[in-house]
Amino acid sequence: MIHPAHIKVKALLAASPAGQEVTVKGWVRTKRGNKQVAFIAINDGSTINTIQVVANPENFDEELLKSITTGACIRVTGKLVESLGSGQPVEIQATEIELYGASDPNTYPLQKKGHSMEFLRDIAHLRPRTNTFGAVLRVRHAMAFAVHKYFNDRGFCYLHTPVITGSDAEGAGEMFRVTTLDMNNPPRTPEGKIDFNQDFFGRETNLTVSGQLEGELGAMALGDIYTFGPTFRAENSNTPRHLAEFWMIEPEMAFYEIKENMDLAEDFVKYLVSYALENCADDLAFFNQMYDKELIDRLKMVVENDFIRMTYTDAVEIIVNSGQKWEFPVSWGSDLQAEHERYLVEKHFKKPVILTNYPKKIKAFYMFQNEDDLTVRGMDVLFPKIGEIIGGSQREHRLDKLTERMAEQHIAEEDMWWYLDTRRFGACPHSGFGLGFERLILFVTGMGNIRDVIPFPRTPRNAEF
Ligand code: ATP
Ligand code: MG
Repeated sequence: MIHPAHIKVKALLAASPAGQEVTVKGWVRTKRGNKQVAFIAINDGSTINTIQVVANPENFDEELLKSITTGACIRVTGKLVESLGSGQPVEIQATEIELYGASDPNTYPLQKKGHSMEFLRDIAHLRPRTNTFGAVLRVRHAMAFAVHKYFNDRGFCYLHTPVITGSDAEGAGEMFRVTTLDMNNPPRTPEGKIDFNQDFFGRETNLTVSGQLEGELGAMALGDIYTFGPTFRAENSNTPRHLAEFWMIEPEMAFYEIKENMDLAEDFVKYLVSYALENCADDLAFFNQMYDKELIDRLKMVVENDFIRMTYTDAVEIIVNSGQKWEFPVSWGSDLQAEHERYLVEKHFKKPVILTNYPKKIKAFYMFQNEDDLTVRGMDVLFPKIGEIIGGSQREHRLDKLTERMAEQHIAEEDMWWYLDTRRFGACPHSGFGLGFERLILFVTGMGNIRDVIPFPRTPRNAEF
């Protein structure tokens, strides 16, 4: 018999029940009942909700019903009717059940009781089947889609920057090497060093820490571009906000100065958060109820308020005069830590904050230098609970200023000839920023640990799956 194409649970729950025949396929979340009736809750990943299947044991083989346990995969065909029970609008009165794959209840790791996040990380291959991770992954998808929609609607060009890079200007010390040399017996130069000339690319290569430099090349031809891809940092920091492999969105815009850059960053994150509020309502309601009662209020707060904009110097003054005790005391010139950033956002202003004009000695060589000779036009967007969610700057487009900073930071001009060429041929003011995609997902879902907002986290000493 040919079965009608199956319908997603999300669509079924929204359909008007008129006894029509429907087929659903998915994974059993729970089965309960008695000799007269069995209730099976099915989830297929299309929504956080399950559809209830009602089966009369008289109509089904006893062995079949027995094998329908939590985690099993089944097909059900039946009539879609109004549900008599509370909690769901419709249910399916089963006429046929097919077991695709059984799931041994004695060994299936996901039971009805709540599991700890740590335990679920150890079974990252199965955790998408939980309510929490299903919701995280749907929100993640919605945010990725919204990123592309935002830029596409505004005429930005999606530029694919390389994952393997020969430039290490930005990431000295925290890059992952890419090589095909025999690690046990690498070729050596006469001086005894490893001879990367014999490596696959004929040179040292690494996984990229950022697509920015190549992004700038694109902006100098296409005007407005963005990248959205994986980036890699071998930073050995085991924090709830750092991954070794994470996704970054990096727009780069010709003719934008720092003001326009801030405007875009603010508009962009507000758009993404509004998109989540509008399109992920069920999942956000779940997070709000289960994890973080202030989540939806916090999301609305971001959408509804103008971000505070102030200089690093003014922020340091607020932090120094706050009367708070800090793990890392601050004075002008020091890098701000998450504790300071969160104080500004959560306690002092109670709004997102964009800081600008950082001391040049704590920022990268490519940031536009201010007249004062002390500060550069960097900008960080700081969010509640997260701290830094975006880092960006107006770029230094003046060749002499740029090479001066490179010399100070011991970056060889020969290695960066292609980057410097954009300053030699038709340079113009331009700006860009990087949004850490997982930091955004942390914020939107209210989850506490960045390992729980990416399907398969890569962190120090962890690359299972
Ligand atoms: P942090 O101070 O938090 O380490 P950063 O200054 O190193 O951040 P940038 O180099 O400016 O960050 O990168 C741009 C954005 O990428 C950051 O604003 C953040 O959202 C994100 N990001 C940076 N490092 C990581 C990481 N290890 N894991 C996840 N996201 C990251
Ligand atoms: Mg960092």
